[in-house]
Amino acid sequence: MPASTGKPLRGSGLASAPIAEPSAKPGLVGAGPGPFERPRALTAPDDLRALLRSAFGFADFRPFQEQVCRAATEGRDLLLVMPTGAGKSLCYQLPGLARGGTTLVVSPLIALMDDQCAKLKAQGFCAERIHSGRGRAESRAACVEYLAGRLDFLFIAPERLRVPGFPEMLAKRPLALIAVDEAHCISEWGHDFRPDYRLLGERLPTLRPAPIVALTATATPDVQDDIVAQLGLEDARRFIHGFRRHNLAIETVEIAPGGRADAIRELLAERARRPAIVYAATRKNVEELATALGRRVAAGYHAGMDAAERERVQSAFLSGALDVIVATTAFGMGIDKADVRTVVHAALPGSVEGYYQEIGRAGRDGKRSIAVLMHSFVDRKTHEYLHDRDYPDASVLAAIYAALAPTPRDREGVRAKAGLDAESFERALEKLAIHRGAVLALDGTLTRGEPGWKKPYLVQRDHKLAQLRAIARYAESHGCRMRALVRHFGDQEDADERCGLCDACAPEASVLARHRAPSAAEQAAIARILSMLAREGDLATGRLHREGFADGALDRRNFEHILGGLVRAGLVEIDEATFEKDGKEITYQRASLTPAGRLHGADASGISLPKTREAKPKRGKAASAEAKRRAFFAKQARRKKRVGR
Ligand code: ADP
Ligand code: MG
Repeated sequence: MPASTGKPLRGSGLASAPIAEPSAKPGLVGAGPGPFERPRALTAPDDLRALLRSAFGFADFRPFQEQVCRAATEGRDLLLVMPTGAGKSLCYQLPGLARGGTTLVVSPLIALMDDQCAKLKAQGFCAERIHSGRGRAESRAACVEYLAGRLDFLFIAPERLRVPGFPEMLAKRPLALIAVDEAHCISEWGHDFRPDYRLLGERLPTLRPAPIVALTATATPDVQDDIVAQLGLEDARRFIHGFRRHNLAIETVEIAPGGRADAIRELLAERARRPAIVYAATRKNVEELATALGRRVAAGYHAGMDAAERERVQSAFLSGALDVIVATTAFGMGIDKADVRTVVHAALPGSVEGYYQEIGRAGRDGKRSIAVLMHSFVDRKTHEYLHDRDYPDASVLAAIYAALAPTPRDREGVRAKAGLDAESFERALEKLAIHRGAVLALDGTLTRGEPGWKKPYLVQRDHKLAQLRAIARYAESHGCRMRALVRHFGDQEDADERCGLCDACAPEASVLARHRAPSAAEQAAIARILSMLAREGDLATGRLHREGFADGALDRRNFEHILGGLVRAGLVEIDEATFEKDGKEITYQRASLTPAGRLHGADASGISLPKTREAKPKRGKAASAEAKRRAFFAKQARRKKRVGR
């Protein structure tokens, strides 16, 4: 509804109408002299659609929106997981309006709240927001509006629920619906864990019986379970949809770090592959890559730049004046650019969830787009190193905890007592604070927190490591990329088909991967693998390698390359399987012959292997940096061997 009508959706009397109880037929409230007739009661599916048209001006529902809106309008708690841009907000906005009264929206980001609030106001709704970026008077005015029943939507930051009296104030009126946006923030397994989201589990019950709608674009089945448990939504319906993208050709390619800049330049030289987003691992890599691509077409974007410069680069990219943005993952949240043709990952990302979010920024307009992930074993080593650094041993956190006291202590004193250098101290302290073992005051002092920090910390530490392993496994796997991603998120109505576009389904269409014919030794290895599979049916790939090549004729890395060649040729199929060990689920891959593979016999014809792209020889400074990095990893490997890990 356009704001220009000047008519509020709801007069003050309307919001005092009774809220529909979960099992009751939802009662709708007339909108008064508004520009649309709000139906008296929702009985037919057409009513919600009518409200969609009159209130939002949308011609029809997007996929899955209708069934979700229906469930929420009926008062069901629900968990909604759909990708960014799918239209999740409507799935609480429409039911909230249909039920009548104020919809409370919990959101983690001030910018997001401001943005959504402004959008709703422009559509003619009464919306307000309360967060730390607003003055006392503004927040008080918002409360007055709320208590008078004049708000359709009230956005709050989760930490508000900590303010004494605030939850009680909210509870003075029955809510139409409670929406928890970016709900993955409540799970310490999610990639944006926000400790304040934990308050929701305690405080939301006092605001019931309103239904709770938890929304997120990124939650694996584990995180979904965690959200449901944390929010106490045992009977929630789950809608997990829309993860399959039909216009995205995904490719992963093994390239040594030194060869990546050239490969990206080559890739993006073609006009049709731009605009493009290139994700790099560090700020330094961003700068180097932007320079390598040429500052005329590419610019860097990372959190180390000043805000004005970031803003300039971002708007140049959004407006089309800049073709390529090279960025850390700091770039992209809330970015709406429909015509991005290519997303490149210049290094292995930290999780499949983050990676999926990032490639999701390609091809929002529905046109064919590509996503290329570059990786090599060096990336895995870097991950391990960073994980060791960022998630120190629990004993480091324990030393800080022991140095704290029930009364505030000076930061430097605590650091000295814990016996840590400044950098390790800050990293470990951050983790301790997240898990409530330390309380950081605004004046910089530290106080001892709750004793139970260790278990959740270790859970998070393990989970991060599992995420790193999952993305490495994904990059090295041989099956259909899109199917692997869709399965990762547990999409409910997916057909589980091969995408036909990725480097596994359509290797001939790969933009970067290059292939070559196998050598005589490799042909022999291919024959050995094919005959073993013909004999044994299906086999775990680890066992296939161990037993097939006990003579040491083929190392594991080259074995994987050959397996990839067999999959691309359509002769072998790889499936993920799991087993339980010490209460943990272990994932592994099983190989079997396809029907074509069974007919093919044991010869190596028609099979191609990846041509690994090597770095060009380096000169000067870059060469010595590369040598230093190699020496570092070699030293680490020796150390690990010694310690027996
Ligand atoms: P998400 O939260 O899933 O990332 P949003 O709720 O922000 O996505 O919606 C993305 C865009 O789609 C918004 O501009 C929204 O107005 C629009 N949109 C949502 N539902 C519909 C619909 N049924 N018809 C047309 N546009 C829609
Ligand atoms: Mg959203």
